[in-house]
Amino acid sequence: MRLVILGGVAAGTKAASRARRLNPELEITVYQEEPEPSISECGLPYFLSGVVRKREVLIARTPEQFAERDIEVLVRHRVERIDAAGKKLSVRDLRTGEAFDDTYDRLIIATGARAVLPPIPGAELEGVFKLRFLTDSDEIGSYIEERTPGKATVVGGGYIGLEVAENLCRLGLEVSLIEGEDRVALAYGPEVSENVEVELKANGVGVYTGKKVDEFTGKGRVEGVKFGDRELETDLAIVGIGIRPNVELAEEAGVEIGSTGAILVDRHMKTSVPDIWAAGDCVETINLTSGRPAWVPLGDTANQMGRVAGTNAATGYETLEFPGILSTGIFKVFDLGVGKTGLSEKDATEAGFEVVSAGLWAHDRAAYYPDAQKVFLKLIADRATGRLLGAEAAGSGADKLTDICATALWGRLSYPDLVNIDLAYAPPYGPALSPVIQAATILSGKFDRAREGVRASE
Ligand code: FAD
Repeated sequence: MRLVILGGVAAGTKAASRARRLNPELEITVYQEEPEPSISECGLPYFLSGVVRKREVLIARTPEQFAERDIEVLVRHRVERIDAAGKKLSVRDLRTGEAFDDTYDRLIIATGARAVLPPIPGAELEGVFKLRFLTDSDEIGSYIEERTPGKATVVGGGYIGLEVAENLCRLGLEVSLIEGEDRVALAYGPEVSENVEVELKANGVGVYTGKKVDEFTGKGRVEGVKFGDRELETDLAIVGIGIRPNVELAEEAGVEIGSTGAILVDRHMKTSVPDIWAAGDCVETINLTSGRPAWVPLGDTANQMGRVAGTNAATGYETLEFPGILSTGIFKVFDLGVGKTGLSEKDATEAGFEVVSAGLWAHDRAAYYPDAQKVFLKLIADRATGRLLGAEAAGSGADKLTDICATALWGRLSYPDLVNIDLAYAPPYGPALSPVIQAATILSGKFDRAREGVRASE
């Protein structure tokens, strides 16, 4: 029995390792277009600045280490066609250009996603980069070493753009960040966006929101970036305006694509085509709070999906299920931790919920304890049922609050559950009442007032 996996980063290698553990008899081959497998893309912004010093720590396992576990990983190999009826693959060895055919009994598509470079004039200039793979950060690193840029522009105020801006500042560059929408960190509510913007500015980043880049200028190499009636000088530009799932190969093979544009799979990570599973950034799943299809490309879910796909492809049964996601995420920009889980107020409203929310600033430890820091927390609940729909946190300890709320969402808890939830307390670790309890109590008051005839949002 031959299992072939397309893509060898988080989902693909997790699936391969899991399949090997469960079925020692399987013949397993992973095709990976990039020169290394199992790279930690999440570490790239920190590798760029040298916070993570060694390149090799970002590669969890080399092809040789996979070979020791009897998994063949062929890097610099691109699968160009899937013949689902004949269970055949057309493959190209990118080192030699040579094309050859392969066969499979079972196939896992883990082709991930790619960074989108916009059709902006000048995007092809030397010094304009995207950041998706280790090869991208190698190129950026070499460019910085050779050209010693003084000014850098980051296009896009999502979490990757924000992480990149911080890490370019660490290198001593003068950084500007341009965001097309009217605020950064758009996946969050306006309070969090405002805090992120304050943090950027406090650390010397020039922030331009509501501005679409019209052109990168320069002769051969980037020298400026134009937006509206402004032009900023820049020696380096990194574009982080979004990514797209790599689904073309699957689509050509007749695999059904979902409404988000990513591959449609069932709870067992099976696609619409027999003997083909898919996992990671190339697939869509379900948002467990809204019940709607969701495409939220993240490393932890790619691993979890890979485990399910690898298990089911190895056994041939519907052994494991991937239930869906909450859309929990976190990032750091300078000293500000920012996390979310579930639906934002905007998403919840769009999903048809009537929303009640409560936001507060609290401390990350007892207010009197040395070095107590501020943290913002917002809880979002369903007016009809009181169920928690989402949470956002920014500041010290945002990670802990995000994960408490994610667990609450996973358990489908409502605000009254959180008012009395038994969380750990001692002065060095938090206030006597966790910010989660404090925010739930404010929510409770709003619901009480609503029951008394006053609108909950007042
Ligand atoms: P990918 O990582 O996209 O890997 C797919 C692989 O398949 C690629 O190597 C590609 O070359 C290969 N491939 C594609 N087509 C073919 C083909 N036809 N033949 C052969 N090979 C093919 N997530 C988090 O959860 N937390 C974070 O903090 C975080 N930070 C990030 C920071 C950055 C800068 C980036 C870029 C991503 C970050 N992510 C983070 C996202 C996370 O890295 C991805 O969700 C994860 O890597 C997805 O894994 P994947 O295996 O699904 O796909």
